Amino acid sequence: MEKKPFVTLEQLQEIEKTYPTPFHIYDEKGFMENARKVNEAFAWNKGFREYFAVKATPNPFIIQKLKEVGCGVDCSSETELMIAEKLGFHGDEIMYSSNETPEGEFRYCNALGGIINLDDITLIEDMEAECGIPETVCCRYNPGGVYEVCNGIMDNPGDAKYGMTPNQIVDAFKILKEKGVKHFGVHAFLASNTVTNDYYPMLARDIFKLAVDLKNECGVHIAFVNLSGGVGIPYTPEQEPNDIMAIGEGVRQVYEEILVPEGMDDVAIYTEMGRFMMGPYGALVTKAVHEKHIYKEYIGVDACAVNLMRPAMYNAYHHITVMGKEDAPANHEYDIVGSLCENNDKFCVDRRLPKIEKGDFIYIHDTGAHGFAMGYNYNGRLKSAELLLKEDGSVELIRRAETPEDYFATFDFSDIMK
Ligand SMILES: *Cc1c(COP(=O)(O)O)cnc(C)c1O
Repeated sequence: MEKKPFVTLEQLQEIEKTYPTPFHIYDEKGFMENARKVNEAFAWNKGFREYFAVKATPNPFIIQKLKEVGCGVDCSSETELMIAEKLGFHGDEIMYSSNETPEGEFRYCNALGGIINLDDITLIEDMEAECGIPETVCCRYNPGGVYEVCNGIMDNPGDAKYGMTPNQIVDAFKILKEKGVKHFGVHAFLASNTVTNDYYPMLARDIFKLAVDLKNECGVHIAFVNLSGGVGIPYTPEQEPNDIMAIGEGVRQVYEEILVPEGMDDVAIYTEMGRFMMGPYGALVTKAVHEKHIYKEYIGVDACAVNLMRPAMYNAYHHITVMGKEDAPANHEYDIVGSLCENNDKFCVDRRLPKIEKGDFIYIHDTGAHGFAMGYNYNGRLKSAELLLKEDGSVELIRRAETPEDYFATFDFSDIMK
């Protein structure tokens, strides 16, 4: 399957007159339709809510859009909670899934009425000291070992720092119940970027069984199961996209099988997807600015790993389209590279593409989640603007590009950079 950009060359030429490259651009129509479909896929569950994982795309303009279709927010830090507060999220619209939680953040979450998801049994004390015992508390589960989904996708919870062991979660529920918690949630995130419709249903089977055991053993009310994130997207053109309707139906069947016979038909299903909500609906647009012919063929672009770190960090594949050359033969082999003094600053290696000329727009697909957000400032390079391609075809600036003043702002206690 060919991957198609959601903007045309003509649109980019127009946009560039106001917003020079590089920039991330997001497709409002695409992510809003997808968000509505997620709600539809789980409409069978009365309490369903998607808590958008703020860390994936921490842009308040985008999160505000997702709020319009009923999404809550999954936050993991003070600044993410600040975004939630500014946008008017409150109460059970906020999930706070932190780990190694800094002091003060439970208090902040609790003041907003958000739901605290405890990563560890020892955090019960910290939470109680900061904000007392809330009526509703969630606990994060880690079964250990290796987690394998049917088609071979595997992750390694036994090596992951998150969550409580099976025995700890039982103890945590008993302690919390004794301290007065009325409603409980169970959360687990066991595999990342799963491109299969089986992951959520499999995970649901495991957590639902655990929820039944916890109800029976601790005598508690399980109010929700939080399937968290991990639903993936097809970064390569060969991968088959997940079908969220099939995923929702798969979870429904397991719900009927395991929870309903136990009288647990009021359990709400929560999700905390980031990648699936936004990944395909963002792109990094950059321009070819140099070519270099040494032992390999290099194309230098005006973006670098500061703007998109995934290829440098995990060798992640991001599909690339040379705009205007979609139908030209891919008869050249390139490394497309940024300007960092860091040899892993490559958006692709040995990629077969049409001949690239200086000035060509290079469109890097699927940067809508964990893209801009992971950026850093190595080599003093600055982060780009973010643009929103609106449903009516117009373009709105939703974050300006960084300036040197931003980069030097943390010296503002002194005159040294004035
Ligand atoms: C990162 C994260 C998510 C989102 O993960 P995706 O892979 O983007 O779906 C959800 N919940 C928690 C607790 C996370 O840390």
